[in-house]
Amino acid sequence: MPNPALYDMTLADLEALMRDWGQPAFRARQIYRQLYVNLADDPALMTDLSTRLRGRLAAETTLGGMRLVRTQEADGGTTRKALFALPDGAVVETVLMVYPDRATVCVSTQAGCAMGCIFCATGTLGLLRNLSAGEMVAQALWASRELRALQISNVELRLQKAEDDGHRIDSLPDSQFSVLNAQSRRLSNIVFMGMGEAMANYDRWWAAVQRLHDPQGFNMGARSMTVSTVGLANGIRRLAGEGLPINLAISLHAPDDALRSALLPINDRFPLAELLAATRAYTTQTGRRVSFEYVLLQGRNDHPHQALALAKLLRGHTAEGADRGVPLLCHVNLIPWNPVPGSPLGRSEHQRVAAFQQVLVDYGVACTVRVERGAEIAAACGQLAGLSVE
Ligand code: SAH
Ligand code: SF4
Repeated sequence: MPNPALYDMTLADLEALMRDWGQPAFRARQIYRQLYVNLADDPALMTDLSTRLRGRLAAETTLGGMRLVRTQEADGGTTRKALFALPDGAVVETVLMVYPDRATVCVSTQAGCAMGCIFCATGTLGLLRNLSAGEMVAQALWASRELRALQISNVELRLQKAEDDGHRIDSLPDSQFSVLNAQSRRLSNIVFMGMGEAMANYDRWWAAVQRLHDPQGFNMGARSMTVSTVGLANGIRRLAGEGLPINLAISLHAPDDALRSALLPINDRFPLAELLAATRAYTTQTGRRVSFEYVLLQGRNDHPHQALALAKLLRGHTAEGADRGVPLLCHVNLIPWNPVPGSPLGRSEHQRVAAFQQVLVDYGVACTVRVERGAEIAAACGQLAGLSVE
């Protein structure tokens, strides 16, 4: 039996372990807080435990075995990508994006992906394996630690600058300093939009959501987490019945079945009618709005007539075009395609993106264009393949 992984354990699991070890239950709570509040990544740092217990944790448990191989940064340090090696040799990537008012981590749920979407770098790998809940949790904890480290270097920078300029440190506004300010010091959002399809690894992924949400531990609000799915209708229906109101994004990318199947092979299994029926069931049951992602590929799915077809679909128009459907509670997020090496596809030009957006807006469909992050380190949407840029 390999040593148990602490990141794979709920608080109840840890309490059971402590019982086995003849320790009181509150030790489990101490360890749990060390892992998820203090962000300790080594039992040696858990200084509220006895040396003996720390030693036993080090000898008889692991955190989960993800090894940080390297980090890369872009966008002036506000985008940071980590490459992790799993114990069996597969690799996954995680991206931290720091904004003036928030910080978001994009977590991978599988090494590779089985879905084979033709525009996605991860899809070219095929599925290597599912990640465990602990391996997803470890990525969010990495991001939190990275933010903490940034904050420390930010303070150092500030001290240095204050000294250089002969100022008092508190007289310098936050905005003068690198990447962090008061709102972005703490990890504020988790998006499950990295490598893999979360809903194809549903149980482990949901266990990670629950762990990260746990108010006794990491305490990430449900509304601060988002999953993106390629459109697994069964997963969407299942999510509708879960107790935690996390956000749902759905990769749509085409307004009709022929085109959608050509871009996303999973459309043959869950065609648009079924996907939209599941989405309607979700919005009705939860009262929550969904986001539709739409990657814009030059000349493939970015014509104004396709925008119109998309608008009609989402406004609930019937095939006959009669204007009596019920609009879906949704928002569209347009994503200009990020290049994937060797792909014959092209990124839509700026004017085509703007024109596509305008058609949707004119038709009454809320629509924004996603701002790209990290393209130069292959950290943007759909570029994670774990082998980029040496
Ligand atoms: N498997 C999930 C989540 C991971 S991909 C899904 O497919 O939804 C996150 C988003 O990036 C999806 O909307 C996906 O379609 C999109 N994407 C994939 N490749 C892309 C690329 N090269 N450029 C821009 N977006 C891409
Ligand atoms: Fe998998 Fe999502 Fe990429 Fe499709 S877009 S291959 S589902 S990661």
